[in-house]
Amino acid sequence: MLHSKLLLFAIRKPTTNRKRMLIKWLQRKKLLARRVKCSRCGHNMTMERNRRHVDGFHWMCRHKSHRGKKTSRSVRVGSLFEKSKLSLSSWIMFIYRFTQGLRIRQIDMMQDSIAKSSKTLSKMARIMRNVCHCAMKRFRRRHGQMIGSSLEFAVLDESDFRHKRKYGRGRASTTWRRKKWVFGILGVRNKHRHPILRLVKRRSRTHLVPIVVKHVRPGTTIISDEWRAYRGALASMGYRHFTVNHSQWFVDPHSGAHSQHIERAWLTYKTNVWRLRGNRTGKMLKEHLSLIEWTHWLGEKHKQGPLGRIIKDICHQFLV
Ligand SMILES: [Zn+2]
Repeated sequence: MLHSKLLLFAIRKPTTNRKRMLIKWLQRKKLLARRVKCSRCGHNMTMERNRRHVDGFHWMCRHKSHRGKKTSRSVRVGSLFEKSKLSLSSWIMFIYRFTQGLRIRQIDMMQDSIAKSSKTLSKMARIMRNVCHCAMKRFRRRHGQMIGSSLEFAVLDESDFRHKRKYGRGRASTTWRRKKWVFGILGVRNKHRHPILRLVKRRSRTHLVPIVVKHVRPGTTIISDEWRAYRGALASMGYRHFTVNHSQWFVDPHSGAHSQHIERAWLTYKTNVWRLRGNRTGKMLKEHLSLIEWTHWLGEKHKQGPLGRIIKDICHQFLV
């Protein structure tokens, strides 16, 4: 339902009528302001046709106290789209693609003329990732981000992202060089995956174990490789700790999950981050990790899927 409505607006050259419908729809979804006050007199403004503007409309006030002068404001005031010059229908296409998968290929989007330049697309992706990052932070603050139950076990993984340079481009920044480990905890419950991905300076006991304690419920079964940082530490914290050699496959007793499926999940996340273009700073990596978390913890859980969730999270961040 949401998808079909959205695709109705994903048109390259919308008519004025379509533009009006899109603005009304975005207002209903609380992505655009429904009421805007005049900065000159404080009265509510009215929406008027504006042929010269890409949106086709703008807010207007011609109150008599202005003595003949008009005031106009953009329909985008206070919204996610405020600083962008791109049409709202292009934004809709972009948001739709963004929620369709973590892998968005810029080349496809340029071909479909969502935006003309790679720079613009990167900027848009950055805005969307930031929405997801902030949503994850709120979720963590309110509900924690806990893994583990009688049916959910946790798998630990530490990856050095710095050495995977063949997947990346450009020079690694200094922040990148310093913080090179991504520590991952993956909650596995039947077909559900709950990843927690953190940037750590070192993969020592003092860096890793507190993250486990913060996110994994006591008593949970934890599977890790034979990395010495975990040795003895996890069992003494009340976890059922098993180590496996990564070259061996194992079968989970609860779910029947094979470790190669879990390895594949890790690989998907990793390739995702390795594919990063441009300047891979620590901040950018963090937001990418957040986006992976967002997809599994929030996006997939929403009754209307990632698209429904992203609309909710945009509303929250840009109170219009
Ligand atoms: Zn006014």
